[in-house]
Amino acid sequence: MTAPFFRRLRAGAGRLKRRVVPTGVMLMYHRVAKVAADPWDITVSPEAFEQQLQLIAHHRVRLLTAAEMAAALANKRLPKRSVAITFDDGYLDNLVCARPLLERYGMRATVFVCASEVGQPKGFWWDRLGVMVDQAERLPERVIVDGSEIDLWGVATDRREAAHLLWKSLVGHDQQVRDERLESIARQLGLKRNPVGARIMNEGELQQLTDGGLIEVASHGWSHRPLSELPASEQRHEAERSRNRLEEILGRPVAGLSYPHGSRGPNTAAIVRAAGYAYACGSRPGLVRNGEDLFDLPRMEVRDGTPEQFERFLLDHVLS
Ligand SMILES: [Zn+2]
Repeated sequence: MTAPFFRRLRAGAGRLKRRVVPTGVMLMYHRVAKVAADPWDITVSPEAFEQQLQLIAHHRVRLLTAAEMAAALANKRLPKRSVAITFDDGYLDNLVCARPLLERYGMRATVFVCASEVGQPKGFWWDRLGVMVDQAERLPERVIVDGSEIDLWGVATDRREAAHLLWKSLVGHDQQVRDERLESIARQLGLKRNPVGARIMNEGELQQLTDGGLIEVASHGWSHRPLSELPASEQRHEAERSRNRLEEILGRPVAGLSYPHGSRGPNTAAIVRAAGYAYACGSRPGLVRNGEDLFDLPRMEVRDGTPEQFERFLLDHVLS
């Protein structure tokens, strides 16, 4: 895959250099899998992931779970060279592909799970949309979503851009509206059947994921809507309902939340804190250090790339 390695990481690197004594990093992954297409740039190959784990092992970093990292930050006692490995969403490949590799190297990780989608058989809506755009024999000039025309040919230069245009018409809506719109888009793209996206873990698989204590599960909200676009009551619902369901499935406390789309409004942190969480993270690039806002922890998104690039990152920002 030729996706730019650490795209966001590079964007954040300039800002990082001006920070004082960076001490740790939360790495953000979504999927570890072999895929034919990756329109959202969220997949790291198993080979690249294993090489990254080997480098983490080689350089003897302090590997913490996200909850441990947050607790250390709260006590202003983050050890130097700290790294936390995190995943967002709750893809099955986290269990079948990433977990065996983490086990091989004795590494712990945190998986932030979108709670309403646990066991949902069709896949995440963005993946279904990605498959639709990929499978359509020919993209129509325009697609009508909820009465508004989306001009695909005039704006998008390829299928990836077309998928992003359609994505925008779905992202802020709840599951029912998204499903209706996806069905309508599928028809307009000439597809006879609604495609299915990559598998999401079900309850049993989530329990398996956490068996043995190597991997902890935390919340990625209830419906994966951007919290900044929701009124306070719905943000509260997202935080509370997701935590309740995950705690019910796993029989253990859920301490953290990662903001879907990295999105948070001015009152989100207070709402998440009041819902009983100990920390929250987004997708703002940056390193963590003592004094960090526990409800706005930055993370670095990791992409496929050469082992040298990953090692350079560790050397420059975590091990220096
Ligand atoms: Zn997500």
